[in-house]
Amino acid sequence: MAKAIQAIRGMNDCSPSETPLWQWVEQQIKDTFTSYGYTEIRSPIIESTNLFKRGVGEATDIVEKEMFTMVRDEESLTLRPEGTAGCVRAAIEHGWVYNQEQRLWYIGPMFRYERPQKGRYRQFHQAGVEIFGIQNAEADAELILLTARLWEKLGIRDKVTLQLNSIGGLEVRKKYREALVAFLQDHLDVLKQDPDSERRLVTNPLRILDTKNQALQAVLDGAPKLYDFLDEESRTHFDRLCTILDNMGISYEINPKLVRGLDYYNKTVFEWVTTALGAQGTVCAGGRYDGLVEQLGGHATPGVGFAMGLERLVLLIQEVNTNITLPRAVDIYVISAGDGVAEKAFGLAEKLRSALPQLRIMQHTSGGNFKKQFKRADKLGAKIALVLGETEVAANTVVIKDLLGEAEQVTVSQNDIIQQLTSRFA
Ligand code: ATP
Ligand code: MG
Repeated sequence: MAKAIQAIRGMNDCSPSETPLWQWVEQQIKDTFTSYGYTEIRSPIIESTNLFKRGVGEATDIVEKEMFTMVRDEESLTLRPEGTAGCVRAAIEHGWVYNQEQRLWYIGPMFRYERPQKGRYRQFHQAGVEIFGIQNAEADAELILLTARLWEKLGIRDKVTLQLNSIGGLEVRKKYREALVAFLQDHLDVLKQDPDSERRLVTNPLRILDTKNQALQAVLDGAPKLYDFLDEESRTHFDRLCTILDNMGISYEINPKLVRGLDYYNKTVFEWVTTALGAQGTVCAGGRYDGLVEQLGGHATPGVGFAMGLERLVLLIQEVNTNITLPRAVDIYVISAGDGVAEKAFGLAEKLRSALPQLRIMQHTSGGNFKKQFKRADKLGAKIALVLGETEVAANTVVIKDLLGEAEQVTVSQNDIIQQLTSRFA
């Protein structure tokens, strides 16, 4: 046998036994987005590398070390590591957001060169939403209500908590950065224990707040708080968001250390986190990015959005929600044996598919006796087997056998079969 080729590290196959759950999750997501009036956009998976350098930020983890980049015809191209930059690029290019409000969503694969582990992969999937053209905190609130509703549908509402913060505007962060750096200068001994953070003291000090290093986290508890630096406008915006959430009964925790890893955020940032998945606890993250459209060459347009990681959501659902009933792969299995009977079985199966399009109807096509065919039907978990032999063909009848329940096997006229099946699947 020739040597088999394996998948690339950190890139997963989704098996036939897993896809039904994935499809169910994706359907809940799409239904929820659609029910709020959002429309889907689809943009390329590969973009100019500069888009991410400018859009995501040079000093972010993503651009510094996580991009899958290649050169083609002297142009540097990158597999998208996230969806917002491409969405904004497309919106500017086609004038979707100039002088108008837009509520958009997307779903699809993203690529980051990270160390693969549970909940962290090199190809993973995100579903996300972007609102353009609305600067009010009402838009931020809508996104949070939408996600809360989705968690409810996915059966994980009580397993996730909402963390909120405001990071103000550029000016605020500039002043805060100075204060934070000054504070950290007095704790260089601890900072040195975490080389990533030490490096960030120069490149992106706010990201240090995100460190997983316990000792450094303890030090940071005493650091200056971003909230105390907020300008009047950002503070009012944040208070308004909190008031709406309070009114709507959405609880949240204000986390002054929440900064997010991407450069484009301002004002509101939020994360939905769970403790049920170990270290990779953030299932959904987002915030406001009022400067991004202009930064990427468009007219100044406010924006706010989020992205959720589908692998983490699926893991969480598998862990905590055991109440999902996924559709059966096969409802009806059509079996046949005898001279010229298979031809008639094709006719019957096609007739049923036309009349009962909501049912999943499979025809046995690999021969063998009835016993073997019934075994296949059982293995597939079919609810009903329809049996056609020479006798049935001659009499224009068909046998209905209930494979899951107690109902007696019956022989009915083929003229009545649709009505019979309709009542059995009612
Ligand atoms: P983290 O801190 O976990 O690295 P992040 O800040 O890089 O997350 P975002 O860029 O905000 O994450 O992406 C939004 C969501 O996408 C995350 O909350 C997570 O659910 C998911 N996600 C991000 N990176 C990965 C990955 N490598 N594998 C699987 N899911 C991911
Ligand atoms: Mg990351």
